[in-house]
Amino acid sequence: MKKLKIASIPGDGIGKEVVPASIDILNAIAEVHGGLKFEFVEFPWSCEYYLEHGMMMPEDGLKRLSDFDGIFLGAVGNPKLVPDHISLWGLLIKIRREFEQSINLRPAKVIKGIQSPLINPKDFDIMVVRENSEGEYSTVGGSIYQGEDEIAIQNAVFSRKATERAMRFAFDLSAKRNKHVTSATKSNGIVYSMPFWDKVFMEVSKDYPEIKKEAQHIDALAAFFVTQPSRFDVIVASNLFGDILTDIGAAIMGSIGIAPAANINVNGKYPSMFEPVHGSAPDIEGKGIANPIGQIWTAKMMLDHFGEEELGAKLLDCIEHVTGAGYLTPDLGGSSTTTDVTTSIIEQLKKI
Ligand code: ATP
Ligand code: MG
Repeated sequence: MKKLKIASIPGDGIGKEVVPASIDILNAIAEVHGGLKFEFVEFPWSCEYYLEHGMMMPEDGLKRLSDFDGIFLGAVGNPKLVPDHISLWGLLIKIRREFEQSINLRPAKVIKGIQSPLINPKDFDIMVVRENSEGEYSTVGGSIYQGEDEIAIQNAVFSRKATERAMRFAFDLSAKRNKHVTSATKSNGIVYSMPFWDKVFMEVSKDYPEIKKEAQHIDALAAFFVTQPSRFDVIVASNLFGDILTDIGAAIMGSIGIAPAANINVNGKYPSMFEPVHGSAPDIEGKGIANPIGQIWTAKMMLDHFGEEELGAKLLDCIEHVTGAGYLTPDLGGSSTTTDVTTSIIEQLKKI
């Protein structure tokens, strides 16, 4: 029996609604499968926790999390209670950084029954591997002078280690998919970091002769992402390029409420963290209408991460069955509740 010990942090707002729904689903999968068991331990770390304790998580929070196989997180932040910079840096960003979750992995795929802004979204099934620890979002730089002479300088940082790590991750992932990696570059305009990025991409690709490789400038790539998505399987991108591409991806998916994500610690030294793209959505909190699919699909990514790809694929099939049958929450134009969608997925899981 394979046992997975998962720390669950529902967090704020609708996180407290969609995380329990997804845990029900994971437990249902484990029951159907037989050979798998989850042990969930819930941590109430959130903005409310902050108001009571003056911190988002206890001093030994990270130490406690490090004992788990994975972290399943809902959403953190409620600017009405705690300023975002405190809540995000006190929990989410702290975990991402301290646990060296250097890859942000985001599928961009249109599933059945969902209205996408793309006219023909059938072929839209792409994995974006975003380098998540450095690049354009470095803290190296500064500003000088004042007034009309004022200059701000922002240095992008690309280390061989982090660049190579992202690329290897992309090739390994593509080996399990359609064996095609596209590197998002801009070496015709950015003259130091991007030629370096290209060089590392070429070097790493030599270790994967069976995988088709291609480099495309981010501007052209972004256009093809929308007009000819079938050109792509896995895209590896820097922090900034990946950030923008994955948001376009979520928009094409039809609602931010269905987009999943994972923050991966590549060497397995620390747990990886699975959290959907959406935030705590305080505007719909407590109404029972939050779309649980982003969180449930995130649970699928967690299954994949732990080598349960077959179960992960089954779960996505069940999600599609339910959306295809018209069980849609209001963000997708339907009138189903969080519970309707969740129980329909569980029913479907039990049938297969
Ligand atoms: P962040 O918390 O990342 O700063 P944000 O506060 O800008 O993000 P969200 O909390 O994701 O954004 O909400 C943006 C909009 O999308 C809101 O109107 C919210 O109601 C809606 N939304 C987000 N997630 C869901 C969901 N799972 N189901 C339905 N609507 C959602
Ligand atoms: Mg928010």
